[in-house]
Amino acid sequence: MRQTGPEKHDRNHHCIEPRTQRALTEVMTVVSTNGTPITDSDTPIVSVISASGSSYTVDTDALWCTCPDYERSHQICKHIRRARFALGVDAIDAELLQKLEIDDDFGVHCPGPIVVAYDGGVIDNETVCRQAVTRTHCR
Ligand SMILES: [Zn+2]
Repeated sequence: MRQTGPEKHDRNHHCIEPRTQRALTEVMTVVSTNGTPITDSDTPIVSVISASGSSYTVDTDALWCTCPDYERSHQICKHIRRARFALGVDAIDAELLQKLEIDDDFGVHCPGPIVVAYDGGVIDNETVCRQAVTRTHCR
C-alpha cells in the first residue's frame, strides 16, 4: 500500500488534482458489473474494485459512484475518474504519466486508456502499455 502522506504530496506536482492522482496511482480494477472484463466501452456503468476489495458501481456517463466519498461530497471521486481513464473516456495527459507512479494493472480488463501526448496527438494503447501503464496484460 502506498501512503499519501505529506512526503508523497510534495514529491508530486502540486497542480495534479488529488482525486485524479489517486485514480491513476491506486490499485483498482475496473470490470463490468457482472465481474467480467469490459470489452464494450459503450457501457457506461461499470464496477470499480479497490485494493481493499470493496466494489463500487460507477456510471462513467452520469458521473455517479456508490462509494462513501461520492455519497458524502458528490464530487467526481477517484473511482469515476479511474473508470473514465481506464475506458478511454477521458484521456490521460502524458505529462501525468511521467510524474505519477501509475498502477501497473491500469489497463487490465478494460478497452484501454488513451494518453494524450505532449504535442497534442494521441499515443496508441500499445505504446502506452509498453511505456508505463501495463506490462504483460495489455491487448
Ligand atoms: Zn467512488
